[in-house]
Amino acid sequence: MTARMSALDSAQHQLAEAVKQLGLDDGMHQMLATPRRSLEVAVPLRRDDGTMQVLHGYRVQHNLSRGPAKGGIRFHPSTDLDEVRALAMWMTWKCALIGIPYGGAKGGVAVDPRLLSRNELERVTRRYASEIMPIIGPEKDIPAPDVGTDAQTMAWMMDTYSVNSGYTVTGVVTGKPVSIGGSEGRGGATSRGVMYAAFSALREAGVDHRGATVAVQGFGKVGGLAAQYLHDAGCLVVAVSDWKGGVYSSTGLNPGALRRHLDDGAETVVGYPGTDTITNAELLELDVDVLVPAALEGVIHDGNADKVRAFFIVEGANGPTTPDADSILEGNNVLVVPDVLANAGGVAVSYFEWVQDLQAYFWTEDEVNDRLKALMESAYDQVSVLAHERSVSLRTAAQMIGVGRVAEAHRTRGLYP
Ligand code: NAD
Repeated sequence: MTARMSALDSAQHQLAEAVKQLGLDDGMHQMLATPRRSLEVAVPLRRDDGTMQVLHGYRVQHNLSRGPAKGGIRFHPSTDLDEVRALAMWMTWKCALIGIPYGGAKGGVAVDPRLLSRNELERVTRRYASEIMPIIGPEKDIPAPDVGTDAQTMAWMMDTYSVNSGYTVTGVVTGKPVSIGGSEGRGGATSRGVMYAAFSALREAGVDHRGATVAVQGFGKVGGLAAQYLHDAGCLVVAVSDWKGGVYSSTGLNPGALRRHLDDGAETVVGYPGTDTITNAELLELDVDVLVPAALEGVIHDGNADKVRAFFIVEGANGPTTPDADSILEGNNVLVVPDVLANAGGVAVSYFEWVQDLQAYFWTEDEVNDRLKALMESAYDQVSVLAHERSVSLRTAAQMIGVGRVAEAHRTRGLYP
């Protein structure tokens, strides 16, 4: 078997395809392929037992041509500089595609947050925030939650930045609790956006979403609420999974009840009463209408793409499908709604949160959700029109729009000196 593509290889491959379709020159290609700044930091942690351990942290600003950098912070054991670079690049195209004035960034710490106490997690977060403080700020680079981090992580980052600045700076991170400048609707925004993207694709194909069967990989912030919203809208969610494995029910799961099961202390969805246990690999190959990968990158690859039986893949996760898998899926007429489009609802409402913070004037949840819906539907339409015009996949069309807008910003600003 050939070696599987890394996230960075996938991101570079997708960029090269967009560059080719847009007819950009080699110099511009290099400009777009190279991150502006990559910061690697040591994050010393004092464990609760008094011992010390040094973790590795990263913050990459991929592109700054259209505005401050924007992107999440990941706490995961396999996070490394190359992964963060790939995720930062995808953020650049995503922000440009949905028309918000940001460049792309991403950050992370190589750590398994499940193995740390709450106090240890707070110390890791605050030390990491202070190490990357020279390059973040509301006008420079604005972090948000990603895998393994949440609203509480953002609250600690905001507090660390504010205390060191000597005044409260709400706009330094998004995805904060509403009580300290967060936006209504941010918690569910990525998942809501996934639902709008799925419905746009189904509508275009003439398929009624009510009764459509769905499998969701990852029952975290994105996958958990995506399952919930799709269920509430009348879809039949037959399978979900987490790091431990998955659960299946042919008559449909109740995501709300599953969430309460976890909130009550269950470590995993596996073993939920009345369900069959399946593996994550089996979930990806289920006979469903819609598959939502919402965990990690590279899970649909050349080794399993041929076994995918879903008609639609709606990418809640970043980079879940490798370019090799894309070709196989296209050959099998599986429609892939790509990450930079499908999961853009999160950064869209992060942008709304930042705007509200800067104005110190806050919107209602309905206002936020209405703007999110309009933005997602407009982005889907733009991508679909270009895909048809140029006979390319939705992924290539989405990348072409994002990459094209960033290239245009570079050309307009000129090259210094
Ligand atoms: P999360 O940490 O809240 O949830 C991740 C989920 O994936 C958990 O259920 C975890 O158990 C599961 N998981 C971990 N390893 C797994 C494995 N090997 N196999 C199957 N499941 C596994 O993270 P999240 O914020 O929901 O992010 C999920 C994906 O969505 C990531 O790709 C992230 O970059 C992307 N994303 C997140 C946001 C956001 O707003 N949080 C926005 C856009 C994209």
